[in-house]
Amino acid sequence: MKRAYEYVVVGCGGIGSAAAYWLSREAGEEVLALEQFHLGHDKGGSGDHSRIIRLSYHAPEYTALTPHTYEAWSQAEEESGTQLVIKSGGLDLEPVADEPKYINQYSGAMRAAGIPHEELSPWEVMDRFPQFRLDDGVRAVYQADAGIVDAGRANATHIALARTRGATVLDNIPVRSVRSVGDGAEVATDGGTFSARRLVVAAGAWTNRVLRHVGIEIPITCTQEQVTYFRAPALEEFSPERFPVWIWHGGPDRSFYGVPVYGEPATKAGQDVGGDVVTADTRTFEPNERVRENLRSFLERYIPGSVGPELYTKTCLYDMPPDREFVLGRLPDAPQISVFNGAGHGFKFAGLAGKILSELAIHGETRYPIEAFRVDRPALTDPAYEPVFAM
Ligand SMILES: Cc1cc2nc3c(=O)[nH]c(=O)nc-3n(C[C@H](O)[C@H](O)[C@H](O)COP(=O)(O)OP(=O)(O)OC[C@H]3O[C@@H](n4cnc5c(N)ncnc54)[C@H](O)[C@@H]3O)c2cc1C
Repeated sequence: MKRAYEYVVVGCGGIGSAAAYWLSREAGEEVLALEQFHLGHDKGGSGDHSRIIRLSYHAPEYTALTPHTYEAWSQAEEESGTQLVIKSGGLDLEPVADEPKYINQYSGAMRAAGIPHEELSPWEVMDRFPQFRLDDGVRAVYQADAGIVDAGRANATHIALARTRGATVLDNIPVRSVRSVGDGAEVATDGGTFSARRLVVAAGAWTNRVLRHVGIEIPITCTQEQVTYFRAPALEEFSPERFPVWIWHGGPDRSFYGVPVYGEPATKAGQDVGGDVVTADTRTFEPNERVRENLRSFLERYIPGSVGPELYTKTCLYDMPPDREFVLGRLPDAPQISVFNGAGHGFKFAGLAGKILSELAIHGETRYPIEAFRVDRPALTDPAYEPVFAM
């Protein structure tokens, strides 16, 4: 078996799968991607049918990238003949006492990027989407291009395309250690050691375990999150043609999101950063009753028709730096190694992040503006930095 590769990717969740695909476009058989579990597993951050994709974001560093993320998905869709993005439109909603905080940030960042959007009163929202029951104090911004990425299908598509282009993708192979060797890297597994000229680490909640011999630790907090599928009585009212993806920016412990009917005969919603702090080892797959109740009471009040008997609740891991912004770049002391952390909102960017990671690996730089996400920013290096997870 070949032991020396130009490019090795550690982790085949959403990001690693995409990185393997984009690397394979340039380097085919010189690409090796390693996954510790079976492909398509649900122990990390990328399982399930759907993830929200949107042009709307809280800061210009993201709205400079969001249009490109759609382009990256289109590339994989065209090459595979598979639809990965389903547009439904999207609402950001915020309950306000006086001046909106999040809505102003989202509108401002979209304005800065020239992204068309509409600010709506609660009555305008309910005219358009009668599924909502909003109080007078709610403010909203609507963006028509938002929707869903089919997460499971997207991962499988990136892997299939990478393999077609000659990449080797091995699952059930945990990487035991990674070391810098000269200006390359060595990757030890139970199945032997591989060498790489450039290494991409897309290991989600396991990132620091993978990097522990490289001399860097990224402060990552993991929480056990969950989404619930509800057998709503009038499902057709919640189809992607009639119901948008939505995010309720209620601040810490009061933020929720949901998507139209997709992948299951059910609506789907969750609480953002609702779950307990865990590690990849201590997490369970048991739903948290407190979070389940928070979500149900929120939905009964604001989107009552979307609730029904529970189909199932599925747990998932968030892996977040203290400022909850992405980590994307080359390691300062080992630039042959690039990393990504999605901060609990990264899936929509998987295609683009994979493309950027491939550019960093191949050219040492990228055409996309990623300075804000650098590995040595104060939020990641100052131990006194106070974590802020609400978005
Ligand atoms: C409930 C929930 C809802 C979310 N909703 C959205 C949303 O609507 N929109 C959005 O954009 N984002 C959303 N996110 C966030 C998004 O899903 C994640 O940011 C993204 O999927 C992370 O992908 P990843 O590839 O970085 O991590 P992961 O999917 O966790 O992949 C990391 C992979 O690396 C592998 N690995 C780790 N260590 C090793 C090793 N030593 N050897 C080999 N393999 C290894 C793991 O097994 C895993 O497969 C949500 C997340 C959750 C949990």
